[in-house]
Amino acid sequence: MKLSFHPIALHLKHTFRIAREIRDVQNTVIIQLNDEDGICGYGEAAPTTFFGEDSNSVMETFGRAAGLLENADPFQIEDITARLAYTFPQDTAARAAIDMALHDLVARKLKIPLYKLFGLNQHDTRVTSFTIGIDTIEKMCEKVEEAKDFPVLKIKAGTRNDIEILEELRKITKAVFRVDANTGWTVNEAIEKLHIMEELGVELVEQPFPAGDIESLRKIRGQVKIPVFADEDVKISADIPGLLGVVDGINIKLMKCGGIREAVRMIHTARVHGLKIMIGCNIESSLSVTAAAHIMSLVDYVDLDGHLLITNDPYAGVMVNKGRLLLPEGNGLGVFQKTE
Ligand code: MG
Repeated sequence: MKLSFHPIALHLKHTFRIAREIRDVQNTVIIQLNDEDGICGYGEAAPTTFFGEDSNSVMETFGRAAGLLENADPFQIEDITARLAYTFPQDTAARAAIDMALHDLVARKLKIPLYKLFGLNQHDTRVTSFTIGIDTIEKMCEKVEEAKDFPVLKIKAGTRNDIEILEELRKITKAVFRVDANTGWTVNEAIEKLHIMEELGVELVEQPFPAGDIESLRKIRGQVKIPVFADEDVKISADIPGLLGVVDGINIKLMKCGGIREAVRMIHTARVHGLKIMIGCNIESSLSVTAAAHIMSLVDYVDLDGHLLITNDPYAGVMVNKGRLLLPEGNGLGVFQKTE
């Protein structure tokens, strides 16, 4: 297989602000894997500096991985992804792109949509939450108004006025709220805020404390009723045992774990331990969001809205109807490039 790649800049509709960062552009890298039969698989890496990757490191990894893929059999996805994980342990977004391109390629060769390769039902769909980034209360109300077709909203928190924001938003919408603190809270703050949030219809909270702060998670156990999900705390399946007894669920992202293969391993590991499962994404185009959507029927909660937050999505794939994600019909990922 021949690996080629090029960077793209995704422009955000609204300046994206979460507890620790603010930005207007997400740089991602698109890859193409061509086999000797002239069939092609596509993938996307949407790196985050929080996990130590950016578009330059991703392209460097692709340059180094190209040789490893050259004589590989695309059907040996387990073999290839295991070798890549060994060689590039930290480069999960880069590996996710290769993993999804392999799945795309193999499913295209078999002339079936990817969900069929996993034995999944395309009609077993999920509703995605729509993310409302941190802003002035007035702007956040405007964003909620714009998102009125979405029955579930993910409200970014981790500010001093989280409660005031949620109270104001609650006045203008009946949508289910999920709150993502993105590591922004202390123990006392979490207990106090989550008690009030119970009354405001908050379904779950993501990552209240800094990654690795298991002790704080333990301290709020039994003190709050809203289910707590780990995000920054859980990258791969091996991270799950360390979170048992302190969280109710995990947020899986292809860019964190290294691809669909590891995401499915995480799903089964979490199920064994009775954890709830969310699949989420970064700011990404429809290409990699669609890859994650192919396995949505395996999870409980879906947060796949990265492509809805940008103005220049070069691809079309998964469709959204009143928040419900609908898989495309085509072979492989079923994603195609939009014509200008
Ligand atoms: Mg999160």
